[in-house]
Amino acid sequence: MSQNSYGEINARIKTQCDQVARPRDSVQLVVVSKTFSAPDIIPVLDAGARQFGENRIQEAAQKWPELRAQYSGVVLHLIGPLQSNKTREAVALFDVIHTVDRPKIAGAIAKEMQQQNKKLQLFVQVNTGKEEQKAGIMPEATVEFVRLCRDKYGLEITGLMCIPPAGENPEPHFEVLQKLAKQSDCENLSMGMSSDFETAIACGATYVRVGSAVFGHRA
Ligand SMILES: *Cc1c(COP(=O)(O)O)cnc(C)c1O
Repeated sequence: MSQNSYGEINARIKTQCDQVARPRDSVQLVVVSKTFSAPDIIPVLDAGARQFGENRIQEAAQKWPELRAQYSGVVLHLIGPLQSNKTREAVALFDVIHTVDRPKIAGAIAKEMQQQNKKLQLFVQVNTGKEEQKAGIMPEATVEFVRLCRDKYGLEITGLMCIPPAGENPEPHFEVLQKLAKQSDCENLSMGMSSDFETAIACGATYVRVGSAVFGHRA
């Protein structure tokens, strides 16, 4: 059986929630299992984890149907970029999409959810660092884009998500996301990874996405 630190990460989330006077159940841990195979993931499922994040549709499609047949209650989160020609597969496979970031994708998701009669929980990804190579809507366009998703496409956007620029202090980015969520009536914040989930919890994160701190380093 391979080692994992799921219990330890849960304990750290509990400690941080206590520290900042938030209830433990206000923060959900999404275990990011990208690049890890079933034999690595099974011990984490056995430890009780049910929320998992993947960033590639193809990889998720290879691993999760079989794991889901063995473990009930799995909630699968797409945390990587989505192309419109993959929307059908994404809607079929995932329960939550964190990366809605342009009208074309919003429209494609709306159409597929209707066709498959399946309702996903949705987050809008915000490019808080305004990085050219990174996905996400620009901060100043976020409120309007969330409104468009709701009014034009009938999507229930429950939250905002960000990935702060590598090597930068994440805190100002988390604060921007929190402010934008208030302005756009979003109750959830998907932010914080292995190196900064405690800071994210202090800034109001309701979903933290933690991979390497649970599984060890990715190859
Ligand atoms: C890989 C990934 C994570 C997890 O990163 P770790 O540093 O391993 O915790 C979180 N969010 C997104 C979008 C990712 O792609």
